[in-house]
Amino acid sequence: MSDYEILDPRFSKLINGSARLERLWTGGRWTEGPVYVPAARHLIWSDIPNNRILRYDEVGGTTGVFEAPCGYHNGHTLDLEGRIIACEHGNRRVSRLDHDGSWRMLADRFDGKRLNSPNDVVVKSDGSIWFSDPTYGIDSDYEGHTAPSEIGASNVYRIDPANGTITLVASDLVKPNGLAFSVDESVLYVSDTGVTHVPGLPATIRAYSVSGDGSSLGAGRVFATCDVGLFDGFRVDRHGNIFASSGDSVRVFTSDGTLIGRILVPEAVANVCFGGPRRNRLFITATSSLYAIYVNSGPAARG
Ligand code: MG
Repeated sequence: MSDYEILDPRFSKLINGSARLERLWTGGRWTEGPVYVPAARHLIWSDIPNNRILRYDEVGGTTGVFEAPCGYHNGHTLDLEGRIIACEHGNRRVSRLDHDGSWRMLADRFDGKRLNSPNDVVVKSDGSIWFSDPTYGIDSDYEGHTAPSEIGASNVYRIDPANGTITLVASDLVKPNGLAFSVDESVLYVSDTGVTHVPGLPATIRAYSVSGDGSSLGAGRVFATCDVGLFDGFRVDRHGNIFASSGDSVRVFTSDGTLIGRILVPEAVANVCFGGPRRNRLFITATSSLYAIYVNSGPAARG
């Protein structure tokens, strides 16, 4: 059985027909938040309900615990210096792993109120940090700690690189989740997984135009709708295609929103990340496991 469903010839150029999906590790409860760290040649990702960060050493092919407990981490990315930026459900904050090995808080409040539970994060080329803040980490004790939302809404925020100021950039999503910039950073894609709280709501990725000074967003529009499960996390490749998680596969869309193919995965996919020395290996966190597959593409940006 093939690991691919090819819907458009453009997808054939992105895949290596002889590459096969590999399961690298299993044993988690809900794996998410992968980031490849080139200098260490390892992948860091979250096993949220088990309150731990895992590390896959691609040189030795082994997996171990990177940190536990960890504050119920979810999404990870890299900043311009290659430091890990983390979303922490449990501590309800965005943090950074400094070069000395300590976690430094970057954002835990907006307008004086505690954040809900930052979910996913991306860094723009100007060093600004953009993150989503749905309620999954305060809805129950499974992925964090049960608590009311002080803000009373699930938004997307930006941390200014110069002064650390946190501004609201999108408030029209039910549950903002994964996010990524287009290749030229003129568009920010954000998934809305609000169907988890509002039955029947379409699971979408929305596209927002980024303002000329790069500090705010224009009106959003629906970019893609998911017909199996939902879009959780995703990455943009160097050609502008979106590699998105879904309930049964990694779905690949061109920048005009056309679904051109799928990489089939036997578990519900939470997120993906390009890695490896040549960045042509797509790592896939899917429910209990970590998978990988070599592709003919690579990331648009670091992290
Ligand atoms: Mg997520």
